[in-house]
Amino acid sequence: MTAASPAKRPRVRFAPSPTGFLHVGGARTALFNWLYAKKYDGVFLLRVEDTDRARSTDESTRAIFEGLEWLGLTWDEEVVYQGANVARHYADAHRLLESGAAYRDFTPQSELERLRAEAEARGDAFKFDRTMAELSPEALSEKLANNEPYAIRFRVPEGTTEWPDLVHGRIAFPNKDIEDFIILRSDGTPVYNMAVVSDDIAMDITLVMRGDDHISNTPKQILLYRALGAAVPQFGHVPMIHGTDGKKLSKRHGATAVGDYQHQGLLPQAMLNFLALLGWSPGDDIEVMALPELIERFNVNGLHAKAAVFDTKKLEWMNGQHLASIPIDELAAIVAPLIERAGLAKVADLATRHAWFCGVLELLRIRARLTDEIVAQAGLFFTELVEFDADAVSKQWRDADATAQILEKTHARLATVDAWEPAVMEDALRKLAEELGISGGKIFQPLRVALTGLTVSPGIFDVLLYVGRERSLARIANAVSYLRQSS
Ligand code: GLU
Repeated sequence: MTAASPAKRPRVRFAPSPTGFLHVGGARTALFNWLYAKKYDGVFLLRVEDTDRARSTDESTRAIFEGLEWLGLTWDEEVVYQGANVARHYADAHRLLESGAAYRDFTPQSELERLRAEAEARGDAFKFDRTMAELSPEALSEKLANNEPYAIRFRVPEGTTEWPDLVHGRIAFPNKDIEDFIILRSDGTPVYNMAVVSDDIAMDITLVMRGDDHISNTPKQILLYRALGAAVPQFGHVPMIHGTDGKKLSKRHGATAVGDYQHQGLLPQAMLNFLALLGWSPGDDIEVMALPELIERFNVNGLHAKAAVFDTKKLEWMNGQHLASIPIDELAAIVAPLIERAGLAKVADLATRHAWFCGVLELLRIRARLTDEIVAQAGLFFTELVEFDADAVSKQWRDADATAQILEKTHARLATVDAWEPAVMEDALRKLAEELGISGGKIFQPLRVALTGLTVSPGIFDVLLYVGRERSLARIANAVSYLRQSS
């Protein structure tokens, strides 16, 4: 008995063209490939399709790397630069020429343009007529001897080209509708389909998963694989992404660059979760998933063919869900540099009072949808005194004299509590309210303004705890003198 050969590890790739920032649609395609690799013990590769020299930029390549790294979609082997493989693309095209799967086309560009224009005038779709390229051996030798330029065209065979698409099911194209397409231009440069197939073969790709705007390229690519004698990989075409108005996602709908979301205070895990649901669902109503759960539940059967809708409101909601549920240390690591950037405290300083910092984050994260909101609301825990918001003053401190008296008594009572603990403080202040014959709210609301400057904040006893005894008492005293001056 022979031992069964070990199953081949799946190899997938993300193949962006570096002609702009990393688009959310590209990131989504990268994520599906990455999830596939993680789920099925495969290898995730990155190929930068930089053959379009005029449009490709290093800046864009960097933006793609940064976006993928921010999301944690790291690749398992060295990056492949398509432009570095042009000699192989060229050689593969010539292999096809030698085997007879392709032929030389000496038709001058001007002649092609004329024929196209003529067909258009007749209302026909122009299709290259192979007989135009049929030359006698003598004519061919002569043209070659004269160094006449030629393109190499693929000879599309008869029949039908079909494949079982992972997302769409069977897709078939009658070959008669496919023009004998150029694989190598007369200047010796490969066309897109030639380069992609040559690279996917060299990289030993087993599944090509990409946007469904590439469906029309796939029959041509399958024909090239076959003619090159290579195994045809699986294909899966994931749906386009639309805005909430049903139109193709564009800048009109808001930010479309992954980097923009990074800088708007999105968590990478929330972005991943949101992107994963653009064209895929786990088959039940569960939407909020951490990365291990996404990997665990990812399944190609859950990929949809229908266009996905990019709803920024949902993205923010999802971010709020992740803010509330990720391990607090992870959140602290993400927010600490933002706190430093906002000038509130240094990262190193936060590390020396980590438990305190995490406590503050626990208070703020349940009310925030974006990390930026956490930073904005964190200010009151870092400053000494606070500014009193005018609306808060007119709403909660209407009677300056009476409020000053209540705050003075509050100050005196808090100054004497034996433990600076929420339950102890609450107890003390409720007793005070009873003694004064007023409701607890009459003490807590003005106190909130004294401590935070605002009418809305986390629970007042938590605020007291994290602002600390000294600073809290100083703020209340400051509020009293403010009120005395204004009365
Ligand atoms: N470079 C192509 C694009 O950015 C992707 C090609 C492919 O995945 O086969 O659309």
